Amino acid sequence: MVPDVLREAERLHEDAKLVAPQAEPWKFQISYTNVVIFGYLHLAGIYGLLFCVSKAHWATLFFSFILLVASVIGVTAGAHRLWSHRSYKANLPLQIILMLFHSLSGQYTAFNWARDHRLHHKYSDTDADPHNATRGFFYSHIGWLLVVKHPEVKRRGEAIDLSDLLRNPVLTFQRKNVVLILSLVCYIMPTTVPMFFWGETFHTAWHIMALRFVLCLNFVSLINSAAHTFGTKPYDKNIMPTQNMSVTLATLGEGFHNYHHVFPFDYRAAELGNNTFNLTTKFIDFFALIGWASDLKTVGQESIVRRAERTGDGSGSWKEECKVVPGGLKSG
Ligand SMILES: [Zn+2]
Ligand SMILES: [Zn+2]
Repeated sequence: MVPDVLREAERLHEDAKLVAPQAEPWKFQISYTNVVIFGYLHLAGIYGLLFCVSKAHWATLFFSFILLVASVIGVTAGAHRLWSHRSYKANLPLQIILMLFHSLSGQYTAFNWARDHRLHHKYSDTDADPHNATRGFFYSHIGWLLVVKHPEVKRRGEAIDLSDLLRNPVLTFQRKNVVLILSLVCYIMPTTVPMFFWGETFHTAWHIMALRFVLCLNFVSLINSAAHTFGTKPYDKNIMPTQNMSVTLATLGEGFHNYHHVFPFDYRAAELGNNTFNLTTKFIDFFALIGWASDLKTVGQESIVRRAERTGDGSGSWKEECKVVPGGLKSG
């Protein structure tokens, strides 16, 4: 099976070459609704920072931190590794948990997230990539959410296979009830729980909720911006994605991005069990242990080393067992 998936990964890279980066000059069309929504949430989040160091109850901070971790996991283990890449299988209860965690992030539906992400992998850093990093750090970080999609994103997005996502009852439920679910899970519950259970004021609870939202959004966005700009390329020096430890820390394990673009079907999104800061992998491993997650896909070390030798930049991977030494790559 592995050679097939390796060929699939190579084919995806070929697809990306079909769309020339910045093929035509493009005049941005600003989405003022999104500018107002994201602008307000960012200002409210910065204001929320003041409450963190002044009058917020410690329980509100602890509760919000747990929700922040859960929302990042909802994106990384749910929308990303499960639904975008099908790198493992999850039973119904785990899918419901991941859908709720993803709703906590406020990043619209997991279906939309996965559709954009499949486009991102298939047409990386071209006009058909929703957050084309050739347009700069700000665009790939959050600017792409503030403008109307490029026509090439819309055109290629309509052609991409999403049949598995459309058949998924959990994703369908989230799509059909997105306004209600996001209102309850992302905004109302995180604000009202601190108010009713330990007497936090609405003003404080609301702004710390906004802070949690913007932290999750910006942490996840670092994968598209920083991990396409700064770092090394041990597996393929011809693509923009990089290995970036800061992004790994902020996203609970998604900063091994050069590896991930070369082997997107690996459920670890990292090489050689590179697990130290990969909380998302540990989360999936835990659910595999109790039988809720299964069919975890990985890539053999030999294939990884061979690929690094063939197309890597020679910088070595994160793991001692697979690092570049003078005269070639050392396989542990
Ligand atoms: Zn990427
Ligand atoms: Zn991915």
